[in-house]
This record gives sequence, C-alpha cells and structure tokens, in this order.
Amino acid sequence: MRQKLVAGNWKMNLTYPEALALVGEITSLAGEAGAASAPTVVICPPFPFLHAVGQQLPPASNFHLGAQNCHQKESGAFTGEVSAKMLASVGCEYVILGHSERRQYFREDDELLGQKLKAALAAGLKPIFCVGESLDTREADETFKYIGKQLTDGLFHLSNEEFAQVVIAYEPIWAIGTGRTATSAQAQEVHAFIREQIARAYDAQAALDTTILYGGSANAQNAKELFSQPDVDGGLIGGAALKAADFTTIIQSF
Ligand code: PEP
Repeated sequence: MRQKLVAGNWKMNLTYPEALALVGEITSLAGEAGAASAPTVVICPPFPFLHAVGQQLPPASNFHLGAQNCHQKESGAFTGEVSAKMLASVGCEYVILGHSERRQYFREDDELLGQKLKAALAAGLKPIFCVGESLDTREADETFKYIGKQLTDGLFHLSNEEFAQVVIAYEPIWAIGTGRTATSAQAQEVHAFIREQIARAYDAQAALDTTILYGGSANAQNAKELFSQPDVDGGLIGGAALKAADFTTIIQSF
C-alpha cells in the first residue's frame, strides 16, 4: 500500500541513554503527528537499542520500529549476526536492506541481498530496499541503466505478493552524508523511472501502490520541496534523523 513514510536511519550512532533521550524527544515533539493524515514514521536504531526504543513508541500510532540490517539465515552458528526473526520478535516491522554503506563496506551483492529480502519477508518484516548510483555513474549518464539493473537483479525476482511488502528508497550515493542533496527534479526523474520499471516487471497497479522514498542529505529545509514531487512518497533520513527538531520538521513536511 502506497503511503507517506519517513524513516530515520540512526546508523552506528548514539549510546543507550542518548538513544532513549532522542526517541523521547521525537515522540513528544511529533506527538500531534499521530493524526490520521500523519505519515508513517519508522525509527531505525542500532540493534542493541531496538527493544527499548520500540517500547518508547506510542502504541497503535503512526510510529514503527525498523532495523538497519538482518542476516539471511533464520538461526544458527553465525557469531555476531542478527536474524530477521529475532528482529520481528523485539517488535521490528521494517528492515533497511541494500543500503549503499552495506553494499560498499560489507560487500553485499544482489545475490546476498536477495537472500536477505526473502528472510525478512519470511519473518513478516517490510524491507526498505535501497538503490542509488555513484557520482561517476551519474556523470557517465548511466543512472537509469544502473538503477534499472539494481532493481532487476536485486528486487524483481520477488513474487507479486512479496513485492507488495517492499518500500523502495532511492539514495544517490553522492548525496548520502555529503550535504549535497539531489534537486527535487533529479529525485522526481529517478522516482518516475523506478515506477515505470515496476510497471514493466509487475503491473501498473503495483507501480502505483509502491512507496518510494528519497534519501541523501534530506533535511528540515529541503524536505517539503522533495516531498512535493508526485513520485516522492517520503524520505529515508540519516544525519537529520539524529536531531529531534529537524526530524520532526521533516515528518511534518508533507
Ligand atoms: C542514509 O544513509 O540513508 C542517508 C540518507 O543519510 P543522510 O541523510 O545523512 O545523507
């Protein structure tokens, strides 16, 4: 179901007390965002804080808990790893997969991401699946070709039912954490392209129903302009998700 959605990716930041303070501030500042018209808000803290942060989210509200990664297996001898089933058991409903930092620093490729997607879906989690091009790819005018391949190889192997659970995040790598945001026209162009590819791989209804987020230096100043684009359904927010006032402004930018 297509929805307005803002997800905060806290990455590897904060201590436990800081995480509790931040979620407390966000929920009290954005309290009125519990109105029916409010966007879905997904808070994605580091693993050790998930349960406690989840406990601070107002029950039966527009606030939901998400994780930043999961392992592809359900359980077993994988020291240091966390399964999708474990995440679901502490209250997670979403999981970010395919973030460019995971692709780059942890060598996560389409095959592995395919397994992670299946594991997440089997555990009842909704994947927030990230795609996005590097600056070199953009400057070589190969953005559409690159994103098209990421979608085909990484995502379009899912069945219609599985795909219906997925949120897509377009995150140009050159915009992540750099302060350099895509213009709203650049974001809209790629989002429209992604929707076209979904229509080709599935059908027109699936394309209309898919939630597509923009991520990459989105902030309290530019969110309104980005979210006003017809194919931009919200944002995946990194740095600005760590500042309660800024994140609240972003939530209220529709
Ligand atoms: C991200 O890492 O998902 C992200 C969008 O980061 P930032 O907002 O800091 O660019």
